[in-house]
This record gives sequence, structure tokens and C-alpha cells, in this order.
Amino acid sequence: MPTSDSAVLINGHTQLVGLFGWPVEHSISPPMHNAAFRALGLPWCYLPFAVRPDAIATALAGARALGLRGLNATVPHKQALLSLVDELTPAARAIRAVNTILFESGRTLGDNTDAQGFVRALHDEGMDPRGAHALVLGAGGAARAVCYALAESGASIAVLNRTPERARSLVAELALQVRASRLSAGPLDAAAVSAGPSPDLVVNATNVGMWPQVNASPWPDDAPFPPHALAYDLIYNPCETRLMATARAAGARAANGLRMLVHQGAASFALWTGIEPPIEIMLGACEHALRGDEHATLHDRG
Ligand code: NAP
Repeated sequence: MPTSDSAVLINGHTQLVGLFGWPVEHSISPPMHNAAFRALGLPWCYLPFAVRPDAIATALAGARALGLRGLNATVPHKQALLSLVDELTPAARAIRAVNTILFESGRTLGDNTDAQGFVRALHDEGMDPRGAHALVLGAGGAARAVCYALAESGASIAVLNRTPERARSLVAELALQVRASRLSAGPLDAAAVSAGPSPDLVVNATNVGMWPQVNASPWPDDAPFPPHALAYDLIYNPCETRLMATARAAGARAANGLRMLVHQGAASFALWTGIEPPIEIMLGACEHALRGDEHATLHDRG
């Protein structure tokens, strides 16, 4: 089990990485990364930094000046960082968000590891998205990463969103960036989720069902859930969402978004350290923090 954060190796060689967010107290990334550093005996430390939106450029310059090796970014900084880094990876450019920064040779590289994390999480569930048909519920930042990953994998995608114009513009943009067999967009209602071929995958990339609104579901009440699909809910708090329960009740498989979080973190970790981290240790640390027992305080919970 993860030990106390005080066991992180801090000495004159300690390398610092961290998370920029506002707020940042909810994040379980610090216990997740620090557990991996401890497990590998690396003198590295991951810190949360509460950075006000108007201070992001100064904070980035400060992190560079302090010699940090890398950063993660979360709400609301992912878009602002696009224009503040020296270079973007193709994923960050296509998703239009930076969630990982590498400081190297005086330059800053902005990456996005959410898409990679999502595909690896699907693989953990035994799903190869190549040739699959996916319904993506939502058209915000997370949906953009999910759609990019699915399109890169050659899946066909229907993006359904409460505000259908947003789904349409996501699809139009995606069509210019990546090859995808079929892309469509529509409203998030019973007719749209039941239209077209039966999906192999249903992804919840909305906020609906997230704690404390645990009784809410993005899946329309009057539509049957496709029994042969995998329901992948990006939400991981609660660990069993109402959408997942609906899917299981229909005979479908379901998974929450914790493995996506861990895999996106693992990809950042590998970029900073050059070392593949221990996934199961990171997952255990996240579960531990979410349970809120032992060393996790109220502020560590996701
Ligand atoms: P976002 O950019 O704010 O987008 C929110 C999406 O949810 C939009 O499509 C929005 O629709 C929809 N939505 C919000 N309230 C709704 C409601 N009452 N009914 C129907 N649709 C509603 O947020 P995001 O960054 O994409 O995050 C979305 C979710 O993914 C969050 O729960 C987040 O925690 C999760 N996430 C998980 C991971 C992971 O690693 N597991 C990574 C990233 C994000 P409109 O366009 O109509 O407003």
C-alpha cells in the first residue's frame, strides 16, 4: 500500500514535477505520481500548485526558472498553455489542449496524454477501437481527446451532445485533422443514441453523473442500452456511475475512467523520467486516495 508522502525522497538531487490547476485540491495526481516515485526509489517529487488563471504565464516562467522537469495541467489552464509553450506535439495541437509539459534544454514542450491514456484504458478492458463504432456523449475538452484517439485508431464515431452545434464543430474540426472512417454529430437524446449501427463502445465524456450528482446519467431514460457495447465512463468518482449500472443491467460491460487517469499520468511520467512507471501501484494509490483512508485528507479526494 502507498506510504506517507513524507517518504518521498527529498535531497539535493530531488527533481520536481507538479500540477497546475485552479482549484487543485481535488486532484489525486500527487499521491499517484509520488507512489510511483517511491516504488522505483526515484528522488522525484510531484507537487500540486494552485495557479490563478491570470497567473499562468508567470507560473510557467517560474517553474522553468526553478528547474522543474515537467508539469501536468488541468482546468482551467489546458487551453491557455497552447500559446505559452515553445513547441506542441501533434496530439496537443489536434486536441487543442496541453495537459503535460516537458522542460528540456531551456525549451518547453506541450503534450496531451489524455488520448493515449484513453486508448490504453480501452486495451485494459480488452477493447481494440480499430474498426469499432463508438458513441461519444459530450463535446467538451475530454470528448475532444477521446474523439482524437478513436479517430486515430480508425473507429467510426457519432458525437452526441446536449448542445448539438458543439458536437458538429468538434466533428468538422476532427475531419480536417485525422483520418476516420465515419464521423457524425447530433443531439444527446433517445432518437440519436438509437440511430445508426449498434455501437461497440459508448463513452461518457460529459460531467453528468459525477459526484455529488450521482443519480444523474447522460444516457436518455427512454432508450435501451446496447447490450453488446462497452460503456466507458470517464468519470471515476463515484467508481460506479448510474450510466455504468444501466449498462450492466442491460448485459453490457462497463468501466470507470480511473484507468484512463492512471494511463495519462503514466505517459506524462515516462516523458519526464524516461522510465515506464508501475501502473498497478499508481492505480492502487488513486483508489487509496479516493477512498479517503489513511493519509488522504478531504483535499486529496478526486
Ligand atoms: P467540459 O469541457 O466542461 O465539457 C463538459 C461536457 O459535458 C459538455 O459536452 C457539456 O455539454 C456536457 N454537459 C455538462 N452538463 C450537462 C448536462 N446537465 N446534461 C448534458 N450534458 C452536459 O468538461 P471536460 O473537461 O470535457 O470533462 C468532462 C468529464 O470528463 C468530467 O467528468 C471530467 O472529470 C472527465 N474527465 C476524465 C478524465 C480521466 O482521465 N478519466 C480526463 C478528462 C476528463 P454542453 O456542450 O451542452 O455544455
